[in-house]
Amino acid sequence: MSVNDHPERLSANIIIPMIPGVIFQFYSSTSGHMKFPYLEGGGDLLNHIDRIQLANDAGELLEYLTGCEFPKVMSAIERSARWMKPLTTRFKLPTPNEKSRWIAVCANPEAAVNGVRWTGVMMDITEQVFEEQRLRKLCDTDTLTGLPNRRKLMMHLSHLASLSARHCTPLSIMMIDIDHFKLLNDRWGHLKGDSVLKQLATEMTRLLRCEDMVARLGGEEFMAVLPLTPLQQCHKLADRLREAISQHDFGVGVGEVTLSIGVAEYRYGEPLTSLIERTDKALYSAKDVGRDCVCLLS
Ligand code: GH3
Ligand code: MG
Ligand code: MG
Repeated sequence: MSVNDHPERLSANIIIPMIPGVIFQFYSSTSGHMKFPYLEGGGDLLNHIDRIQLANDAGELLEYLTGCEFPKVMSAIERSARWMKPLTTRFKLPTPNEKSRWIAVCANPEAAVNGVRWTGVMMDITEQVFEEQRLRKLCDTDTLTGLPNRRKLMMHLSHLASLSARHCTPLSIMMIDIDHFKLLNDRWGHLKGDSVLKQLATEMTRLLRCEDMVARLGGEEFMAVLPLTPLQQCHKLADRLREAISQHDFGVGVGEVTLSIGVAEYRYGEPLTSLIERTDKALYSAKDVGRDCVCLLS
């Protein structure tokens, strides 16, 4: 069967410029020299990059990569070369005229003279990455207050706990609960209650340090995670927060919104459930003592 049997079929040199992406061969020598012996395709993915130059030296494209993008791409290339496994990565490519574009790379390696050669494709996946980011934010955010939710907080806490255990640095948490919030709802209505929750979220974020994370666990309960903070300092910060909130006007009268706070410090290696349990107990003590106060369990 010949091409003439299918008159609708176009030749590769007509098709390739119509592809919304790039087909390439990439070569990396054992001495570290990199180039794109072949780089063709359509779309405006690499419009601002000189493809002829790239045929001799991939440096121009790699130099565009900023921040952690460069080491990420280089280690993906090294891993693929070492294990002869497909190269799959994505990177953010700054462009001169507009914001950065996200590019996905997928390529198969093969041994070549004095190095490795990959053959593969690059596609612009910017819209897809933005959608992923939007969905991730949605998954991690409390819709009423805009604070991180329980899921996000637990991931963050577990990351900080492993850093704390590895570097022997202090880490403390606060469990924060609004006092008699049911009464406030009963007296002012649920909408006003919602507005208090939103304002409280803004105030707590403002009052805590930017490296601290405050999240809404649910209802009128919040948790703050304070890296590099020993228990006594956390206690002091919690009391300052409690005091500031009790003086703040949330539109229901100063002194009408108060907080009970339990604080505890992470013990190296303990399960997070036990840290949270101790903080919870401290919070119950604060409620027992009479509310609008901070309790700690050492
Ligand atoms: P305590 O001092 O013992 O914590 O008393 P409390 O009234 O704050 O605690 P309780 O657990 O009895 O009631 C919590 C209230 O929080 C009941 C519920 O209606 C209210 N609440 C929970 N989530 C929301 C919300 O999203 N919006 C509003 N407006 N109220 C909420
Ligand atoms: Mg409460
Ligand atoms: Mg509660």
